[in-house]
Amino acid sequence: MAARNVMKGKTGDWLAVIGLEIHAQIASHSKLFSGSKVKFMAPPNQLVSFFDAALPGTLPVLNKYCVEASILTALALSCRINKKSLFDRKHYFYADMPAGYQITQQRKPIASNGHLLFNVYDDVKREKPRRHRVNIKQIQLEQDSGKSLHDDEKQQTLVDLNRAGVGLMELVTEPDMSNGKEAAAFVQELQTILERIGTCNGKMAEGALRVDANISVNKPGEPHGVRTEVKNINSVRFVKNAIEYEIRRQIDVLESGGTVVMETRSLDDTGCTIPMRDKEVVQDYRFMPEPNLPPLVLYDDTTINSTICQEKAINVDTLRRRMPELPEDQRQRLTEDYGITYSNAVKLVNEEGLADLFEQLCTASSRKETKRLMNWCLIDILKCLHQRNLTVKQSPIPVEKLSDIFSSLQSGEISAKSAQKLLELLFDGDSRSVSEIMDVENLRQITSEEEVLKFCTEAVNEEPDLVEVYQSRNKKVINKLMGIVQVKSKGRIEPQLARRIMEELLERRRRR
Ligand code: ADP
Ligand code: MG
Repeated sequence: MAARNVMKGKTGDWLAVIGLEIHAQIASHSKLFSGSKVKFMAPPNQLVSFFDAALPGTLPVLNKYCVEASILTALALSCRINKKSLFDRKHYFYADMPAGYQITQQRKPIASNGHLLFNVYDDVKREKPRRHRVNIKQIQLEQDSGKSLHDDEKQQTLVDLNRAGVGLMELVTEPDMSNGKEAAAFVQELQTILERIGTCNGKMAEGALRVDANISVNKPGEPHGVRTEVKNINSVRFVKNAIEYEIRRQIDVLESGGTVVMETRSLDDTGCTIPMRDKEVVQDYRFMPEPNLPPLVLYDDTTINSTICQEKAINVDTLRRRMPELPEDQRQRLTEDYGITYSNAVKLVNEEGLADLFEQLCTASSRKETKRLMNWCLIDILKCLHQRNLTVKQSPIPVEKLSDIFSSLQSGEISAKSAQKLLELLFDGDSRSVSEIMDVENLRQITSEEEVLKFCTEAVNEEPDLVEVYQSRNKKVINKLMGIVQVKSKGRIEPQLARRIMEELLERRRRR
């Protein structure tokens, strides 16, 4: 066992074991078993069909897109796809679940036996990551519940069923992680993959991705300890913090002679985990097969044939062929194709859409400029996006315009400062073409020596004292003259050119 996994206690070393259960909302237009729309933050109870409200006599109709999304997710995580899976009812009574049960896949899930390899940065210096593998036990399809909203002032609970019946993929990992950092890195890589394949938007703050962490501790050489489960963690940072807190708490309990009880806990506002009162009794879910849904049968290239309704049938191999390049494959390829470092490839890939933008811009620019282009994407473009709280996908600037800016920068037509100004204008909604803005806003670099000489002459005429100092004592004052030239030209002269012409001018004056 590597030393990094060992936690120190008063009585010696401890090891921790962590397994995650993750609920990922499927990014589909409609719900898992009904035609109601799926939309975050819609007015309460606007997206509720009779089936979602559990009116008697309504029947589930399986949404093909949700099944395909879960298969794509399973393939991205190297799972075995079960060609036949089953739906079950899991009973519990809660106001936001009007049927009194949730349809899930308890006996046979849609996929099992997968794994994910991801980077863990043990050092603060994010240069060399360690690869870690977590096995995925299963992925099952199930319904989300509605939401209960508690109004403390009026002492009442309101129910919003917009979320009731939204498709969820529940992913269960094996207990293959040993600290909060590893678990957080797993969740982050999963998020990046889900975003990439488009099956879940991954937004934890909106509840689209929710993490339950199972945590136990044991002494080295001893079997796994009793685990607790911290429910509904809603940010990557909280995954790390909640797990670290819970490990510490369990060690303290055990070292002071207590026992850890198997229980469900939640994360409070101060970052502590506290027992959840409503989960104290062991639930009997009275699982039973869902009578209104037949087994879910999937096909592949070898089993699909013309007697099967092509519209309804799902061919796993067709989905496999539709799989986009996964984030880690793209990171590797970027380092090979463009000669950039792995850590820069990570930065490009982890910001959704940025790596694709970089590659699109690369095709239009010279090979020599790859590194400059990469920095332009990672620094200048990202800065503009972050300042406006936008993602790459939400950027209002078409790639062609970005490409125009970069080629003008590359050819020396505009300065870095002007390129930044162009970006700012376009991000703020300027709809003119890049060259029109360059003309109207006077952003083009001054390249004509004659024009540069004009600015230099002006500066020299205005500052005879500086010229005198330059010629008699200190050549460094040329920098002051250069500053004046740049102010006059609004920074549009390439500094080296301005300097050469200024030097020539000052030498000529001396000889006179
Ligand atoms: P159950 O059948 O009780 O639901 P599972 O085997 O399905 O238990 O495990 C549920 C979750 O708990 C999984 O994510 C698994 O990785 C995790 N887990 C299992 N054993 C431990 C343990 N000793 N410590 C921490 N997590 C564990
Ligand atoms: Mg389980």
